Amino acid sequence: MKDYRLPDRKSEAKRTGDPVRSVFTAAEDIKQLGTGRKYFIRTYGCQANVRDSETIAGILEMMNFECGTGYEDSDVIIFNTCAVRHAAEEHVLGEIGNLKHFKTEHPDKIFVLCGCMSQEEGIVSQIIRSYPQIDLVFGTHDLARLPELLKKTMSGSRTIDVSSHQGNIVEQMPVERSRKYKAFVNIAYGCDKFCTYCIVPYTRGRERSRLYEYVIEEVQKFKESGGREVTLLGQNVNAYGKDLGMEDGFTKLLEGVSETGIDRIRFYSSHPRDYSITTIDAMRDRPNIMPALHLAVQSGNDEILKKMNRGYTSDDFRRLVDEMKSRVKGITFTTDLIVGFPGETDAQFEDTLALVDYCRFDNAYTFVYSPREGTPAASMEDNVPAEVKKQRLQVLNERVAKYSKMNNEECVGKVLKVLCDGPSKRNPDRMCGYTESNRLVNFDAGNVREGDIADVRITAAKSFSLDGEAL
Ligand code: SF4
Repeated sequence: MKDYRLPDRKSEAKRTGDPVRSVFTAAEDIKQLGTGRKYFIRTYGCQANVRDSETIAGILEMMNFECGTGYEDSDVIIFNTCAVRHAAEEHVLGEIGNLKHFKTEHPDKIFVLCGCMSQEEGIVSQIIRSYPQIDLVFGTHDLARLPELLKKTMSGSRTIDVSSHQGNIVEQMPVERSRKYKAFVNIAYGCDKFCTYCIVPYTRGRERSRLYEYVIEEVQKFKESGGREVTLLGQNVNAYGKDLGMEDGFTKLLEGVSETGIDRIRFYSSHPRDYSITTIDAMRDRPNIMPALHLAVQSGNDEILKKMNRGYTSDDFRRLVDEMKSRVKGITFTTDLIVGFPGETDAQFEDTLALVDYCRFDNAYTFVYSPREGTPAASMEDNVPAEVKKQRLQVLNERVAKYSKMNNEECVGKVLKVLCDGPSKRNPDRMCGYTESNRLVNFDAGNVREGDIADVRITAAKSFSLDGEAL
């Protein structure tokens, strides 16, 4: 009955060498396995997980499953999880814990856990011991093996298979995109940076890039199907191509994607340490590369940055932002910030606020530090009291909101190009979309339809969005 294969985290983290590359193939016998059955995917976490869920959906539809609406009408229920924060894990464990009774009532439904949590030894052991309602666990490197693993599980065998295949890159996987006009396109997997607080190098493996031609082919196909915007994804996109021996690989890729003629190109996420001047110049010279950048800084204090192993100082970061502002007209920045890293003093937190004042970010993902088991920071004394962390987060959020509002106010009266995403969530009589600088606009649409790029006059600014009317 049991087939338990657990990852060896230490050897995963050290692994080097070329990835094994292949093209997705599916055995004929699995193509009808889903006939008459439905699936439902719950996705947690970042864009990489959203993109993985689109691949999972593509594979399941290739197996003839249909998309369901929830637990009740679905036969295969998948939790694609995030391990970046402890709270996110607790949330998932709570949710699957609540399903014990439901599973007893519906023993034929199959519950699946995948994503970053499935790469953690401690979590997998916990699932094996205490969550019998989970029938299948598979790792982040094994999406292409989903058909065989699911077939085995459907035949009655509980399957826990997260053995490492992190060197693998499988191309031409099926994809069921959640949006028609915007696409996430993976360009690289994993990360080599080993920031001391981060679990990603352990859950997603070492840095490895997709081949240039496959990325371009994916963008080209998406454009031909009517797509208008791609976001190139990687934990650190600026390192693209290093493992392929490419010089200035990310800039070359960016230029190649630009040449496809797709309307809008964004990329996520960038590491300040790996920026090259050629990338900045490509952003300046190519109008379809959007002038909006997510550049994670994490802290404004040099000692904390060193303890985080970020590889730059706050002045390095300021210089980079200045350089970009001077070269790329109208460029905007968002960032990530952590408060309460081990040992962070009030004065060090003030340095973070000073950096926010200097950079005037459009927005920031702000987090309270929480230790992740197995990372170097987890062995540092987590000595900032919870109440202090909470207060710092509140002060930081207020500071970020202040600049976001100020930046938004500068847009009032301007006419900006907005890619329409569809009806606004708050008011379905209006449309919503994003400007080139990635600001959310809710607007009176007139004849504008989803997927159009419209000229919109900005009429009012809020903290994190704009109001407008289509011309
Ligand atoms: S660069 Fe990002 S993904 Fe990589 S270790 Fe640092 S925080 Fe984690």
